Amino acid sequence: MYDKNIYENATDGKRERIEAFAEEYKAFLSLCKTERLCVGEIVRLAEARGFVPAEEASAVKAGDKVYFVNKHKNVVLYRVGTRPLTDGLRILGAHLDSPRMDLKQNPLYEKESFALWDTHYYGGIKKYQYVTVPLAAHGVICLKDGSTVEMHVGEDPADPVLGVTDLLIHLSGEQMQKKADKVIEGEKLDVLVGSIPLAGESKDAVKANILSLLRERYGVSAEDFVSAEIEIVPAGPARDFGLDKSMIASYGQDDRVCAYTSLRALLDGDAPEYASCALFVDKEEIGSVGATGAESLFFENTLLELLAKAGEGDILAQRRALERSYMLSSDVNAAIDPIYSAASDKENGAKFNRGIVFEKYTGARGKSGASDANPEYIAKIRRVMDDAGVHYQTGELGAVDQGGGGTIAFISARYNMEVIDAGVPVLNMHSPMEVVSKADVYETYLAYAAFLKGTL
Ligand code: MN
Ligand code: MN
Repeated sequence: MYDKNIYENATDGKRERIEAFAEEYKAFLSLCKTERLCVGEIVRLAEARGFVPAEEASAVKAGDKVYFVNKHKNVVLYRVGTRPLTDGLRILGAHLDSPRMDLKQNPLYEKESFALWDTHYYGGIKKYQYVTVPLAAHGVICLKDGSTVEMHVGEDPADPVLGVTDLLIHLSGEQMQKKADKVIEGEKLDVLVGSIPLAGESKDAVKANILSLLRERYGVSAEDFVSAEIEIVPAGPARDFGLDKSMIASYGQDDRVCAYTSLRALLDGDAPEYASCALFVDKEEIGSVGATGAESLFFENTLLELLAKAGEGDILAQRRALERSYMLSSDVNAAIDPIYSAASDKENGAKFNRGIVFEKYTGARGKSGASDANPEYIAKIRRVMDDAGVHYQTGELGAVDQGGGGTIAFISARYNMEVIDAGVPVLNMHSPMEVVSKADVYETYLAYAAFLKGTL
């Protein structure tokens, strides 16, 4: 159903199903504040549905369910179909990383009798949105003996929260004259972590006290942060949003909303005809680079492993499997904001409660950097969605020349597979409080499920 309001057709208990799915999604979001936490939870949910680590399966056959994890931050799940892999796969690909602040390698310092953590922001953020909001710290500190210490502060109601201070309005005459991208500068995004001096310490006593606390709680030294990955993110769980509770407010919904709906579509479906795959990557927000990003050879390597286990051959089989595959690049889209509607094209922008958004192209200016989906493929998707009675709409990231963005679609398109961006519309994208519609979340799950089993 193209461009129709979901609530106008919500009969036979659909509202209850939307609500029930939203509760499960909120629980996932509230737990999964980093890509590592996402990978852990995805593996847990997949194992509960019978998935096994691929290395434990020496051979695979129709109906088998395996997963591969890459460096704790990137995971791919496969359900082997009744057809050979070389007939092509149905792939859902989402990213697990979200914009945030990362601790630097030597983060702790003292100034004006306060202890602070120095950060470097990650991904595209409006820096001024990250001051004076409660923040949490999640991550790992890897030690020379090979062990890893986890740090999670700020989510439990009994935990303290952290935060970045901002100048009081009374003294902000000069600051308020600055342009929005200079109001809060990157080097000012430092997190306040303490104020009590260590007794008997004469120099940097507050810093010394935090170091002693870190040693006591985590068994780590200042030097151990050289090999740490600590992410500073908005604190607190996902919440219902709006007087009618029709929406969800939370950090990290770009792109965990598409990750969760993709995961559930793969886990909940029946044994597929064509092999289905859910690929969850890291580093999308900084260009899909690195070993755990979509540009990594990890995904190709896993498919080669799977083909070997299925007895289907090597590189040529892999190229054929990829070229004959269909993919949805599961990523969010910008919803038209009622207050800033001029930034979008009213007829072509995504709207709340109209279901999954199929975005033919992303990119900036004259479609620069876009993976422009083929109309033949889009026609097939329209048929699959209409046959399954799924609400869908189209979207474009803002009006022409308003800006732009990209996803992982162009990377998968290199394999010569058919790929289109498809996901949930979001308000406040990349802010500490991103907002989505519960109905769109559920409909996107239905759309991914229809895609995995549909005849394309
Ligand atoms: Mn995204
Ligand atoms: Mn993004």
